[in-house]
Amino acid sequence: MLTLDGVHAGYTAVPVLNGVSIKVEEGQFVAIVGPNGAGKTTIFRTISGTLKPRAGRIAFEGLDLADVPADRRPHLGIAHVPEGRQVFASLSVFENLELGAYTEAGRRDWKRNLDAILGWFPRLAERRSQLAGTLSGGEQQMLAIGRGLASSPRLLMLDEPSMGLAPTVADFIFERLLEIRKETKLTILLVEQRVAEALESADHGYVLEAGRVVLEGPNSALRANDRVRQAYLGM
Ligand code: ATP
Repeated sequence: MLTLDGVHAGYTAVPVLNGVSIKVEEGQFVAIVGPNGAGKTTIFRTISGTLKPRAGRIAFEGLDLADVPADRRPHLGIAHVPEGRQVFASLSVFENLELGAYTEAGRRDWKRNLDAILGWFPRLAERRSQLAGTLSGGEQQMLAIGRGLASSPRLLMLDEPSMGLAPTVADFIFERLLEIRKETKLTILLVEQRVAEALESADHGYVLEAGRVVLEGPNSALRANDRVRQAYLGM
């Protein structure tokens, strides 16, 4: 469904991504893990189109994204839930979700999606009229994910959904992602620093260090890998 082939990208003369190749099959749950500053968010920016790769190719469902502007990509079915749960603070929960449904598919599926989102995240149903800025961190993350889902994506990209959340809240989010995936067969690409949780939820993983993929494989193989165990799982 999504292929990155030898992608190089950066912000200044200093490169951040040094030839990253990643493959996400339809229906897969793929995690990209790695230390701070490895370039995980930068990968997402190249996929959503806010950063242009200097070299390499990104294709979504066989379509080369090089000539597809960032604002068209959600309409192809690519939803990017950015780091730091950027919800519209002065709008209500409902209005935030409604704004997420701005794609053609999102408008078409709005009623069904809204019911599903409020079912997965009952907190959002309870607070649907509340201003998003007054929600807790975990609730804002649920809303950010809900807004992404409201666009009726084929690929949901989540940048560190557990950031700054208490472990029980983060666990709830991971559980919901698994449930959403099971019920909808949605393809999910996740970036996480909570490596243990990410590799438990996903079925395939990539370890990114200093802008390069240093390891990849099925989650079970990565969890059993000595380097991953020592560097990321504290074993
Ligand atoms: P984190 O978990 O800290 O977000 P990350 O793996 O997602 O880490 P990136 O955010 O992709 O890493 O950042 C990779 C490198 O690019 C870092 O050295 C960072 O300082 C730099 N960088 C990120 N955004 C910008 C920007 N807008 N301008 C210049 N440099 C940037």
